Amino acid sequence: SAEVDLFRAARPESEKLWRAATRHLPDGVPMLWMAKWPGPWPVYVRSALGAHFTDVDGIDHVDLCLGDTGAMCGHAPAASVRAISEQLAKGSTFMLPTEDAAVAAELLTERFGVPSWQFTLSATDANRSLIRYARQVTGRRKILVHDYCYHGSVDEAFATLDDTGAVVERRGNIGAPVPPSETTMVVPFNDVAALEAALSTGEVAAMLIEPALTNIGIVLPDDGYHDAVRELCTRFGVILIIDETHTISAGPGGMTTTWGLSPDAVVVGKSIGGGIPAGAFGMSAELAERARRSLELEDIDVGGVGGTLAGNALSLAGVRATLSEVLTADAFVGMTARATEWTAGVQAVLDEFAVPWQVTQLGARAEYSFRATPPRDGAEAAAADDFELQQYLHLHALNRGILITPFHNMALMCPVTTTADVERHSLAFREAVSSLYA
Ligand code: PLP
Repeated sequence: SAEVDLFRAARPESEKLWRAATRHLPDGVPMLWMAKWPGPWPVYVRSALGAHFTDVDGIDHVDLCLGDTGAMCGHAPAASVRAISEQLAKGSTFMLPTEDAAVAAELLTERFGVPSWQFTLSATDANRSLIRYARQVTGRRKILVHDYCYHGSVDEAFATLDDTGAVVERRGNIGAPVPPSETTMVVPFNDVAALEAALSTGEVAAMLIEPALTNIGIVLPDDGYHDAVRELCTRFGVILIIDETHTISAGPGGMTTTWGLSPDAVVVGKSIGGGIPAGAFGMSAELAERARRSLELEDIDVGGVGGTLAGNALSLAGVRATLSEVLTADAFVGMTARATEWTAGVQAVLDEFAVPWQVTQLGARAEYSFRATPPRDGAEAAAADDFELQQYLHLHALNRGILITPFHNMALMCPVTTTADVERHSLAFREAVSSLYA
């Protein structure tokens, strides 16, 4: 409660805006996740640049959340802002292509290895579109996901396993059109036997996965897990979709390229637009050809995927500039080095106070969890959750001008995050841990 008092005293302007906003916005926010932060009211942002933002009370923050990866490119990166502003002045919505479209698709092809791309407004939209294509080309209905996955507000992925191993609705599944057991199979991450059993039913159109879980802490794949995934998908005719929305932290081409994976389709989103909405999905040549033939054969229009503003000129100007000038291979080297420093800083504090938590890094992203060893699947990771402890650590950090992602203990680095930014977190983290365990 001392931390809550600190927050209250420091943020009167945020309080004013919040009180006014609650008249027409539930919880005073335009999107309900924004109310998930610790503290009695949300922090209202005045402006942001690079790895920092300033709130309306004038407090500077090191942003280690970075819009939950939406700003992994850093806030307002100059090259993206320039390209987006120039395009905005020239018009943005034509439902006709601009030159940037082909360039952006080529840049994505170079990074992820699959050659046929379409653009969306979000990673959620990209996942939904691929699920439709997968059902169309396979004639099958079910989608297989990992337990404790998150792929956006995609109906099929809002499923989990109950204690008996049955597929049930996951918390947050508002207005599900049908019970998820009708659309979805769920297997634990890293469980090859469960995967083989599920795929061998012949009911699965696509396996939609993050190559490492990132939405329940970071859960890395066992050696050989992805070889097994690829082999089983091929054997049972299942389309393998790798959602790189978060795992792009592993490198310019995500885990797909860094770890040498061979998906049939790839999804990206969040940061690729340089701060404005953009998502994309890419297909292998074989899948793209199957999709084309299938639509032709059945004389199907494209109404089921895409949207009026998808692939708009503004998004594509942002994608082109961000991929070619901001989230470059060099930038990833620096981001990964900063994440290694952050990991070492956290580990040093854990060692000093003999706290049995572990920290896992995946390129530019790292996360600690309240257990001694890295989790092997989502259920293990979830069992270590401690909401109160997490709220305390996050609020403590926020009061010292450091933003950590809600629902996570995650830190993400952008191209201009500095060692000094990382050290600011290490110091605050030491203070918090020592207040609990010294
Ligand atoms: N895929 C993954 C792996 C995600 O973590 C998320 C969001 O957190 C999404 C897709 C959805 O992204 P968006 O909400 O931008 O559509």
